[in-house]
Amino acid sequence: MFPAKNLKRNLIKFFQQPGYGIRVLGKRLKAVFFYRLKPDFAPLPEALTLFLTHNCNLRCKMCGQWGDAGVTKNKSIKESTMDFEKVKKIIDNVANFKPNITLFGGEPLLHKNIIDIVSYIKIKKMHCLMITNAYLLEEYADDLIETGIDEINISIDGPRNVHDSIRGIEGLFDKISAGIKKITYGRDGPKPLINLQTTITKFNYDKLPDMLEVAKDLGADSITFHNLIYLTHKDIKKTKKEYPFLKPEDWEGFVMEPEIDPGKLIDSLSEINAMKKKYDFMINVYPNFNKEEIRKYYTEKEWFPESYKGKCQSPWICSYIFPDGSLHPCLNFGYSLGNVIEEDFKEVWNGKKARKFRELLKKEGRFSVCRRCTEIFRY
Ligand code: SF4
Ligand code: SF4
Repeated sequence: MFPAKNLKRNLIKFFQQPGYGIRVLGKRLKAVFFYRLKPDFAPLPEALTLFLTHNCNLRCKMCGQWGDAGVTKNKSIKESTMDFEKVKKIIDNVANFKPNITLFGGEPLLHKNIIDIVSYIKIKKMHCLMITNAYLLEEYADDLIETGIDEINISIDGPRNVHDSIRGIEGLFDKISAGIKKITYGRDGPKPLINLQTTITKFNYDKLPDMLEVAKDLGADSITFHNLIYLTHKDIKKTKKEYPFLKPEDWEGFVMEPEIDPGKLIDSLSEINAMKKKYDFMINVYPNFNKEEIRKYYTEKEWFPESYKGKCQSPWICSYIFPDGSLHPCLNFGYSLGNVIEEDFKEVWNGKKARKFRELLKKEGRFSVCRRCTEIFRY
């Protein structure tokens, strides 16, 4: 549940937000207990991700949701957004066990009641994090500070020209920078924490060191460089053949050639490592591979690192709710455990379908599509 490679990152997070850290630790230990001794059941989840809407105001080059094979591009607007009353119903239903809530999309700032939703979560005293492309951040910055939101994760792909080119909008970098600075220079205390998230792609892998100055200028609290999630059709076909009910086709948007020169990427990451001491914010690479692992990750498609257990424990810890109210054990499986607008969350979380899924996952350790999933490297 706590891979040594993630220890430093987790410790810093723990000291940044001790109350939150203690709660997470307690819940994580409970999850270990269930995973080992009663694996089809899980304690009530530590984290709940609410997909408020699948809609997005950008069309980024590397997007697994809105790309040609993305899972959401065919969904109607109606089924794509969860209305405020339904969000409140879910929050009320889970408030007694206080999971950490992540608001995600699509783009969560497109939800017309976004400020009411964050306020409602904070009134119920839950930790709240939002993942956003920050297009609308400047407009919402003051209100977000006012809500008491704990953390905002902002996707940023590179310095000005790189970001604008990947995101397809000239001037976007300056627009999101204005929004970020409105928060980092406008907040009274440490919150909301501003975490920059940069996905490593063929478009930016040799420009990553420039991001440290960008993060400093923006006043960010952390920056994380994420290794690219990419899969092969073979991975998806294999899982589909073995376990069709999981509906792994939602992974199709991540099938791509990485087209990343591992030698150059290693140089970029080594440069970042050498410069780390100059900066007073947290700098991470996730998963935190060594040089040989980076080389293999981008060149050997069927490779999996031996330094990680490769047994996914996420469905004992995390839960995902889509705009139609369906509860999912993972982000990219169409397999739904049930509907938490129509039924009680706890009933669905340990219902028949959830237990069947955990039993199978405990037996298998991971499926073939799990090879590059971020969750497989987290616990
Ligand atoms: S902002 Fe996110 S969801 Fe929207 S197109 Fe870009 S990557 Fe996709
Ligand atoms: S590693 Fe596999 S089982 Fe675990 S969260 Fe990812 S897709 Fe789901």
